[in-house]
Amino acid sequence: AKENKRAFFEFFNPTMNEKAEATMLLEKQVRVALDEDQFEIYYQPIIAAESGEICRAEALVRWRHPDNGLLLPAEFIAPLERCRIIHEFGLEIIRKVGEFSKELSDIKKLSGDFRISINMSPAQFLEPHFTEKFNACQKEVQFDWRKIEVEVTEKSFISNAKHADKVMLELQSYGVSFALDDFGLGYASLTHLTTLPIGLVKIDRAFIASMNNNPKNRDIVLAIIEATQRLGCAVAAEGVESEEQKLFLERSGCDLLQGFLIAKPMPQSQFLDFVDDKHST
Ligand code: C2E
Ligand code: CA
Ligand code: CA
Ligand code: CA
Repeated sequence: AKENKRAFFEFFNPTMNEKAEATMLLEKQVRVALDEDQFEIYYQPIIAAESGEICRAEALVRWRHPDNGLLLPAEFIAPLERCRIIHEFGLEIIRKVGEFSKELSDIKKLSGDFRISINMSPAQFLEPHFTEKFNACQKEVQFDWRKIEVEVTEKSFISNAKHADKVMLELQSYGVSFALDDFGLGYASLTHLTTLPIGLVKIDRAFIASMNNNPKNRDIVLAIIEATQRLGCAVAAEGVESEEQKLFLERSGCDLLQGFLIAKPMPQSQFLDFVDDKHST
């Protein structure tokens, strides 16, 4: 019956078929990549604006593809979100982060509040058995829940707010914290901050970059910082690339800074060196 169905699509709907073929091919490649351990995690430090202390490391996946070199997430995450294998991929990221988090727990130089943040696409987050599977990963790897932050975007709440709320409260009860990624100014976003267990808001890179072209955009950034802090959240600025931006954000009371000015995402071993260098100087 499956073969018949395929034949049907091939005959009547070539574009849909092409899409399906591409998806199947990606599924297959990701299956191989998981088996052969081709996914690598890079870590980008996030520092406290005031003290310079490393507060977070954002886990950013790279695919060391045997034929196509090192692929950035922009080249594969979006199509992967349409595949069932995204769930297995996501659990692999959790396991890898969990392992590294355990390794970092021995490093005295990192503050007790240090966490690794994991990006979670709405498709992963809204999967019905997400919490159970996350739990199973924790049982397997034995990482400390309190060392993990999950970065979600608004898209995760908009389609199914009730479910998202349930998942977040359950994970929060284990010790996981949540950051709202790619934050832009909007009424809905501010409402979410009061109803969901979000501890950190990450101002989208585009806003930080926009401060250069138009000084008025600085007021927008200021307003975001003030509003989110008033609602009880810490604020991080993404994409900090210049000293000027850094200075402005520090003066504006922004809590955390992330960007190429501080450091680019780097392999695990290099992150260990970064921690070592940062605190020995
Ligand atoms: P994001 O969550 O917004 O992550 C920040 C992105 O900004 C990263 O790109 C990082 O390398 C880049 N970045 C950081 N500082 C600067 C800067 O100063 N200037 C500029 N121009 N860029 C900066 P990356 O690593 O290519 O990741 C892109 C996106 O892919 C991420 O955006 C995230 O949405 C997604 N992603 C990455 N890893 C994962 C993952 O494990 N799972 C899922 N579901 N998505 C992931
Ligand atoms: Ca992120
Ligand atoms: Ca972001
Ligand atoms: Ca983004």
